[in-house]
Amino acid sequence: MHNSARAGNRGGLNLTAILGTVRCTVWHVGMFDTFEPALPISCPWCGSVVTDDWQGKSGPCLLLHFRQGERHPVAHRVDEDVRFDPTRFEEFGLPDEFDLVGVCASGHFIQGVGRCRDGVWRETDISAAEEQAAGDAERERVRQVRKSLGY
Ligand SMILES: [Zn+2]
Repeated sequence: MHNSARAGNRGGLNLTAILGTVRCTVWHVGMFDTFEPALPISCPWCGSVVTDDWQGKSGPCLLLHFRQGERHPVAHRVDEDVRFDPTRFEEFGLPDEFDLVGVCASGHFIQGVGRCRDGVWRETDISAAEEQAAGDAERERVRQVRKSLGY
């Protein structure tokens, strides 16, 4: 897309890259949306229920709050002076598939994937985290066995 500009800047300053970095710093780092699954999700490592909101960066990244089963955000969690009027919520939605992260009370990070059907968030899949936790448990079991055998 910026081939000509990049070629012209070869060996020099790439202004597009610099501006891109600034833009990312200002608009994307630290910005996310919050997510509320329909049912409480238990941590695959310790079993405690994730009570805090999940967070993700695949959506609009405007600190909008999405609730599973709803097509549009249900809240905008920012200071009142910059908060969208709720009539604007219908301008925002989620991609068919999006990443989200929950943190349990013990501090485990749980990676999940949200999936939409017809633009409505329908599913929260943490099977990858469950497999990871199962792998961790298996490694720990092996470690304990080795320890008991004096390895
Ligand atoms: Zn946990």
